[in-house]
Amino acid sequence: MGTNTQQEIANRRTFAIISHPDAGKTTLTEKLLLFGGAIREAGTVKGRKQSKHAMSDWMEIEKQRGISVTSSVLEFLYDGYHVNILDTPGHEDFSEDTYRTLTAADSATMLIDAAKGVEAQTKKLFKVCRMREIPIFTFINKLDRQGRDPFDLLEELEQLLGIRAYPMVWPIGMGHSFKGVYNRHEKQLECFNPENPKDIDIISVDGPNDPTIDNVIGDEALVEQFREELSLLDIAGDAYDVTQIAAGTLTPVFFGSAISNFGVQTFLNHFLKLAPAPTPRESSIGLIDPMTHNQFSGFVFKIQANMNAKHRDRVAFLRITSGTFKRGMSVKHARTNKTLKLAQPTQFLAHQRSTIDTAYAGDIIGLFDSGSFRIGDTLVEGTSFTFNEMPHFSPEHFSEIHVKEALKHKSYEKGLQQLTEEGAIQLFRTYNSHLEKQIVGVVGVLQFEVLEHRLKSEYHVDITLTRQPFSLARWVTGTETDMANFANKQRNLVTDREGRLVALFENDYQMRTAVEKYPDMTFHENSFFQ
Ligand code: GDP
Repeated sequence: MGTNTQQEIANRRTFAIISHPDAGKTTLTEKLLLFGGAIREAGTVKGRKQSKHAMSDWMEIEKQRGISVTSSVLEFLYDGYHVNILDTPGHEDFSEDTYRTLTAADSATMLIDAAKGVEAQTKKLFKVCRMREIPIFTFINKLDRQGRDPFDLLEELEQLLGIRAYPMVWPIGMGHSFKGVYNRHEKQLECFNPENPKDIDIISVDGPNDPTIDNVIGDEALVEQFREELSLLDIAGDAYDVTQIAAGTLTPVFFGSAISNFGVQTFLNHFLKLAPAPTPRESSIGLIDPMTHNQFSGFVFKIQANMNAKHRDRVAFLRITSGTFKRGMSVKHARTNKTLKLAQPTQFLAHQRSTIDTAYAGDIIGLFDSGSFRIGDTLVEGTSFTFNEMPHFSPEHFSEIHVKEALKHKSYEKGLQQLTEEGAIQLFRTYNSHLEKQIVGVVGVLQFEVLEHRLKSEYHVDITLTRQPFSLARWVTGTETDMANFANKQRNLVTDREGRLVALFENDYQMRTAVEKYPDMTFHENSFFQ
């Protein structure tokens, strides 16, 4: 591999921001893009939430609801790094795609509202990152407002998420009294100026006891509190440990205010140094390491339909896992063994599509697709292999599905298959029931509307969806005898597309009862167990 290619790959950082709605993800993303000069004006990223989209050709539902069903990939160059941010949908448009996007990331940044702490959606997304054992960075946001005690927030990370925390910076005051942060690593004071937040004074000091801090902060009580807190951290807190950070068991924590662009650059500088370059991936021929595997390979982690309603096109998002992509190159589609020419790839930058000529491991490219790709498909140059199957995640909403006109059954089945392969829905069949029924499972309830809309507009099929009372699915494994015993006794069993047994539960209590009753069986929250 040429040193140039190796350098390109080594400089890449591909990550996702995980957070609960309103924590400030759009704001933080925008500030990061501003640093890289990828956008010139504030508001560019925000646009996606407004009811009038700049891109007139988004899906009808998006227009009606004024929200985005889809997510994009944003990239920028900064300080010699090529940064790819995988945008994870977060509001009503939370879907299985959000989880899948995390499989394409090498690290994650967890954004937390200082007043709210760890919230539901953050918890769900964190679990996926933890399973993948990727490094997780934490940015605690909105320090310009009164929030919760920083120690409380750190404890919550440990209690609710089971991750240890190492504050890279420590706040001095909060809300009206917010004075800035002390950077433990650089031994410097980064001062917050509420009148002009962009103007950050950075003052090098000898340590937390340096009298310069008293002079600069000018509030005795605050400085005293800060010193007490810092010594408590030094004595009782976790030590800085890069091995644990890399393993995702210790999270470096930053405090700041995204809206004021305070603490964002400090976060970015440390993040880029600590976050991994494109990481090796498991495949059918062993680990594919982008630093040694010269040939191009990648996997499809997301398929987005109807980005342009006029052309009814789909875009398959591919995470490049090794090698170099060149426009027009021929690759093998591992599942079908067909050769494909990648002629029209696109990259996404602040929602403007542009055609690209070259891309490297770590990058995400969008491939125009007329229905030949499935979630998890592998594309390779040279000897064919496949990456491990893309996992399914537990849906939270379930409906029984029927086609209204029996004559349309063929189109209906075709549409359902297509949408399942794209990952828009999960399709289950009832097990052991008198009459076999089809059950659709989705992570975000909006997917039901997407399903109805797409079957109607693309396949001219009307359906009825009857909501089911379940809210959890667990893939069940065990010995043959245990499985047979379980299947005989348990109700509400279904099989997924691969024929694996899945138990549906109405709530956590019901699920935990089953777990206790069948201690020899394992209940998996997603299909990662394979
Ligand atoms: P998202 O839903 O996570 O993308 O959140 P947004 O970036 O849209 O932010 C949600 C709200 O929080 C908006 O009203 C922002 O202006 C506000 N916000 C974001 N960052 C900060 C911050 O640092 N301080 C304060 N006070 N508000 C913020």
